[in-house]
Amino acid sequence: MTEATIIDGKAFAAKLRERVGAEVRRITDAHGLKPNLTVILVGEDAASQVYVRNKGIQTEEAGMESVTHRLDASTDEATLLGMIEDLNADPKCNGILVQLPLPDHIDESKVLATIDPEKDVDGFHVINVGRLWTGQNALVPCTPYGCLMMLKDHFGSLSGKRALVLGRSNIVGKPMAALLLNESCTVTVAHSRTADLEERCREADILVAAVGRPEMVKGDWVKPGAVVIDVGINRVPAPEKGPDKTKLVGDVDFGEASAVAGAITPVPGGVGPMTIACLLRNTLVAACRQNGIDAPDL
Ligand code: NDP
Repeated sequence: MTEATIIDGKAFAAKLRERVGAEVRRITDAHGLKPNLTVILVGEDAASQVYVRNKGIQTEEAGMESVTHRLDASTDEATLLGMIEDLNADPKCNGILVQLPLPDHIDESKVLATIDPEKDVDGFHVINVGRLWTGQNALVPCTPYGCLMMLKDHFGSLSGKRALVLGRSNIVGKPMAALLLNESCTVTVAHSRTADLEERCREADILVAAVGRPEMVKGDWVKPGAVVIDVGINRVPAPEKGPDKTKLVGDVDFGEASAVAGAITPVPGGVGPMTIACLLRNTLVAACRQNGIDAPDL
């Protein structure tokens, strides 16, 4: 039985963070510019607290300035929008990230639309979405960008590959499809209404799973030799580790798929670590563009 190459996202992300750090030192020395990423967290969502803390630590490790505004869950929409407008006008702030999800009383789309597209390091503003789909210089959502980097590293050119993206969310599936299309893949986007899903998956040279369904993609959905990128992060019970224990699994049945695929990302340690590394990359790129400095090709 062939075992797939494991694509080590943790190591890949560490290298990307090193490259970002080196570029940050270079532009700080040459231009006196220390890129600043400002994160706004509204409320006490436990997972968001962890993400925001990690973002802050990694931002500083890369030599950039990290600012976090923690707002009470009862903060009203106008206050949040006002804070974003102040950051838009502040030349010291290069990247603005509003941690999602937001409390129900705040309109997420209004918040995302208020962020200056040039500081939109999450790449969720419609201007950046439009730029991405029209092949212009967008700030691209971090998770799919990380997937693309690993795919390009594996294949070199992606031109002519058949890609299937399982999931059509605005933060993963759709931007992933746009990125693959921009690389001249032939792209299928599958979702909950897709007919013959397993067959469509089996046709793909590149299979990106972003569904949020634990281990849904089975080994016999994978074309032999295909590259499988598993975006899913699902916490499931792990009775084998003891009572009440849990573990993280992806959207792909790793045991089955790794026996068929040519290469595969594990969960954890695959796509996950790339997301913050790409956020740092986006912050550096945004800071360079705002200051008329050639952005490094990372
Ligand atoms: P969403 O819930 O927003 O989207 C899920 C998509 O999967 C939808 O398009 C949905 O289709 C589709 N889908 C759901 N069930 C099925 C099914 N049975 N068959 C076919 N398609 C289905 O999720 P996200 O895109 O936000 O996230 C996807 C996964 O990626 C999650 O596990 C999430 O935790 C993980 N994630 C990981 C990140 C990382 O850093 N590694 C970052 C972001 C997300 P439809 O549109 O028809 O409803």
